[in-house]
This record gives sequence, structure tokens and C-alpha cells, in this order.
Amino acid sequence: MDLLNTLVEKGLRRELPTREEALAVLATSDDELLDVVAAAGKVRRQWFGRRVKLNYLVNLKSGLCPEDCSYCSQRLGSKAEILKYTWLKPAEASKAAAAGVAGGAKRVCLVASGRGPTDKDVDRVTKTIEAIKDENEDVEICACLGLLSDGQAERLRAAGADAYNHNLNTSEATYGGITTTHTYADRVETVQQAQAAGMSACSGLIAGMGETDADLVDVVFALRELDPDSVPVNFLIPFEGTPLAKEWNLTPQRALRILAMVRFVCPDVEVRLAGGREVHLRTMQPLALHLVNSIFLGDYLTSEGQAGQADLEMIADAGFEVEGSQTTTLPEHRAGGGCASACGEPAAPESEGETPEIPAARTDLVSVRRRGAGTDLAPNA
Ligand code: SF4
Repeated sequence: MDLLNTLVEKGLRRELPTREEALAVLATSDDELLDVVAAAGKVRRQWFGRRVKLNYLVNLKSGLCPEDCSYCSQRLGSKAEILKYTWLKPAEASKAAAAGVAGGAKRVCLVASGRGPTDKDVDRVTKTIEAIKDENEDVEICACLGLLSDGQAERLRAAGADAYNHNLNTSEATYGGITTTHTYADRVETVQQAQAAGMSACSGLIAGMGETDADLVDVVFALRELDPDSVPVNFLIPFEGTPLAKEWNLTPQRALRILAMVRFVCPDVEVRLAGGREVHLRTMQPLALHLVNSIFLGDYLTSEGQAGQADLEMIADAGFEVEGSQTTTLPEHRAGGGCASACGEPAAPESEGETPEIPAARTDLVSVRRRGAGTDLAPNA
């Protein structure tokens, strides 16, 4: 297929596809799926070989958020029966992080619900980072604390945070329909504050919230312009008790097409398979390893993932290897941080993709987290 040959050539040159090409990937048929995966897999292997970076989430503060992000089980008014607790103590967070590191994670992501941290919260996180790095010197720490105020990014960097996560989640045009308590521009600004403070930026999206193909391409092109080092791709987990509980829009095939599109647009960036992979990709998860070079190990913030050991077996069975702590994730030209893309600007007009088929809801696969951080039970790692 000419489209795929072109996209592979562009990906190997780190050249930005046109919007039309990105949309065309999303519009490919299920019959073409393996060709699409094979093509994007060539780009993945060029920049990341067969390595898979493992990341481990520690939810420092769960639930009770005053913001209204429709996709989130921790939002204002959420009826989802999730764990709710306030800040973990540094020793508790360090213990949870250690489980992830022992399972093979090289990055620990410290996440807290809320609009953004107070300066006292930054003090808390500073102590938590110290506690984790005392035990695991080499571990990368990513903080995800919401919108940052002036000076907080610099404080987190000085405390030893290697990276900061703040997702764009969806296109600018649809953002107001998903969240009303803050704006898309607020999110962009926080990512830029993290970059300016010298942290590696992590920013991604959530697919499956009822967006169009054009919205997906918009947000991925916006991410490319923002130039984060890592792009987590979440697939909506439609929690009962949230406004998007009935949004079951994804098939495994569509999820793979979305990941392939992200890889073509962000060829040399750490593309991470994030929340919702078990729910939407299901038994097709190993194919996604040909597209992404990073996954979360174990459980998510408020839901349970598959067993950490099953993740490790899946990686080995699919012929991939867990990336070691001494290996630099990003290709050499990006490893120093900052933009190194050789891309031009998008040129071609966009077109709408076909309306995706509506899959059956798999509510049986949504499992609220009842173990690990904030509980007396052992974490999954
Ligand atoms: S995504 Fe973050 S800011 Fe939005 S409701 Fe959930 S915890 Fe709050």
C-alpha cells in the first residue's frame, strides 16, 4: 500500500505525515490491520528496537477531586466506588514504588488527584521523591499533580523529579465538552512550564470518548508540536458512575489503528500504552507492543490492570525485552531533551474517517482497584 510505504519512509526520517495520511491510517479496514501494524512496527523498531519500558503508577491521593473531567472516576460528583484517600506518607509511597521497581519498572509515576498542588503539596512530594530515590537511586520519577503554579515546576525539578506528566487528553475543539473547570490552554501551559524547568515532558491522550478521527489527529498533531518525550495513549475506561460510562466506542482493531497513527506522527517519541489496554485491546495486547515502546506495569490509578507477571510474560512471548535501568529510552538525538524533530508542517486538508462500528460494552472488564497504595493489600507488580 502506497500510504504505508510513505508513512514508513517518513517515520524513519522523523518526518511529519500530513493530516490526510494520519486520517487515512484511522480509516484503514480490519483486513489491512496487520499491514498497518507491520508498517508502524518498522518505525518503532528503528528508534526503540524491541525494548519495552515499564512504568509504575503510585496514586498518592485518590478521589475527591474538585475538577469535573468527564472521563475520570475521581472527578467532582463521581459515583464510581473507587478507593478514596488523602496523601500517602513518603514511606508508604516509597514502599509502593519499590514493588513496581522490583517488578521491572524503571519509571515511577507519582500521581495525585486535584486541580493542582499547593506549595505544601509540593513539599510532600519532595519528601516522597527523596524517600524513593534513597531506596532506588536509578529510578526515574515522573510527577503528575495537575496544573502547576509559578515556581512549582522548578521546585519539583530541584527535588529530583525527572519528568512531569500532564495530558492534553483530547482536541482543543472538544476539550470544553469533556471538562469545564479548566481549559485546554491551561493544560498546554503546564506542559510548557515543566519543559521550561528542565523536566522531561510526558503528555498524551485518551481515545474512546466519542471523539471523531479528526479530533484524534488534532490532539496527536498538537502533541507533536508540544514535543513531549513521552506520549501515553489511554483508552477510556468507562467507569459506572461517571458521565462517560456508556461510551464503549473502541474495538481492539481501532485501538491498534490509533496506536499506529500515534507512532507515525511521533516516530521517535516514547509512545506508552496506558490505561484501558486490558479493557479494549484484550487478547490483542501483544500486537500493540509492535507499536508502542512503553507500558504501565500492574494497576492503574483507580482500576486494576492484569497481573504484573502476565505483563512480563506477554512481553517475552511476543519477542520483546524489558528495558533495563542503564539503557537510555530515547534515541540519541532526543536523549538530551528538547525538540529534534525533522518535521515540516502539516499541509494536506483533513477528511473525516468512516464512522467506527459500535462494539459491545465490556463492563465485566472494568475492575475498581482494591489493592496496593491506600490499602493493606499487596500491590500488583
Ligand atoms: S483527571 Fe485529574 S483533575 Fe480531572 S477530575 Fe480526575 S483527578 Fe481531577
